[in-house]
Amino acid sequence: MIRKSFFGFVKPRIEYALLSDQHLNIVEIPDPKSINLLVDGPFNPGEATLLKEGDTVKTGQKLAPSTEKDAYAISPVTGTVTSISSYAGDFGKFYTAVSIDVSDQEEFDDQFETACVETTLPVARNYLTQLPGKLPLNFFNDSEKPINTIVIYGGDNDLLVTTNQYIVKSRTDDLKHGIRILNQISDVDHIIMAIPGEFLQGYGHIGAEVKNVPIEYPAANPFMIMKDTLGRIVPAGRQSEDLGVCFITAEAVAALGSAFQNGQIPVSKLMTVVGKNGDQQLVSARIGTPISHIFDTLGITLSEKDRIILGGPMTGASVWSEDYPVMPDTSALMVQDKEMIPYVSDYPCINCGECIRICPVYIPINMLVRFLEAGHYEEAADQYDLYSCIECGLCSFVCPSKIPIFQFIRLAKYELGRVNSAEEAHG
Ligand code: SF4
Ligand code: SF4
Repeated sequence: MIRKSFFGFVKPRIEYALLSDQHLNIVEIPDPKSINLLVDGPFNPGEATLLKEGDTVKTGQKLAPSTEKDAYAISPVTGTVTSISSYAGDFGKFYTAVSIDVSDQEEFDDQFETACVETTLPVARNYLTQLPGKLPLNFFNDSEKPINTIVIYGGDNDLLVTTNQYIVKSRTDDLKHGIRILNQISDVDHIIMAIPGEFLQGYGHIGAEVKNVPIEYPAANPFMIMKDTLGRIVPAGRQSEDLGVCFITAEAVAALGSAFQNGQIPVSKLMTVVGKNGDQQLVSARIGTPISHIFDTLGITLSEKDRIILGGPMTGASVWSEDYPVMPDTSALMVQDKEMIPYVSDYPCINCGECIRICPVYIPINMLVRFLEAGHYEEAADQYDLYSCIECGLCSFVCPSKIPIFQFIRLAKYELGRVNSAEEAHG
């Protein structure tokens, strides 16, 4: 919901969607004929592989395509591997794409059931990093950056999305169990559950300190939670983990609880689907389901030039293929009708100051954008606070010249990251 101020110089107020009765009905997406999994890291046909075309796999089976990398996926279905190839994603990221034809007869793999008698970090790291909601367990064995606080995210970081709110409302037992397991495997005692105000009652027994997050966007952004809820400012260019605070979604914590309780790895992802008219629908689909299958099931017809966005309206990224799969961290899926797509212009900045007024971290965006447009990323970082940006997308939203400021910022950070990695690699 957007409340425009009457006076032009006061910020418009934009609020997160709160879960209401209309969102409580979940559509279960039937299994597709085939699924695609994207495993971190490119596929190199020369590498020794643990998986090949023609292999049969069971539901919940760990699939590690390469002996030389730790990355893996969990098979969300029972079926036959039909292809393994390389896939180029956003911002120079490469994956190994594994396609599986789904069998009618489902069989569950029992390796995790045997392993989970021990509630330890190595067991969780070995099987559960790709849980629905994604479990960032890599942060828990870094002796240089020890984690002392876990924040469980009971809301969602973008507008119109109610995925994690639903988990908090409907899966209290799994959450409670997940919090206990998290405490056991990480040795972190300070666990906070941050949830939107209206949900505060009834969670006293959950096993975490429950804190309220305001419903005004971008209060649920991790950097804002750090500042407003934990009273700690994350310095520019650093992450909350550098200060010993790790954020985990409520969905991942509930999935962790369910996995250890039932000896079975959860393989279905909950998502908010936002249709062309802005209607929101919660759906549950196996990880790896092509997004076209979800649209078909919901009766959403795609026309040429409509835009598909993974994530919410402020920070989501568009994808070009309807075959793109549901990933463990896909919390929302949006379709924009071609007629409604905000028009991106090549108008110059008119120095109106709207972006500066709305930026929660007071970046001089009118200056920053000039350097970003010219590709002068180092100056943008050194002189105009590029790294203070918390990536909320508000500046792009209000810019009357429709400058894609947020996308420029992401690109600049990516390019600078690439240059820095190359420099480190060459000493
Ligand atoms: S995305 Fe824009 S408004 Fe948000 S923090 Fe970054 S510069 Fe500020
Ligand atoms: S909102 Fe757009 S036009 Fe206005 S100062 Fe910022 S970048 Fe320039």
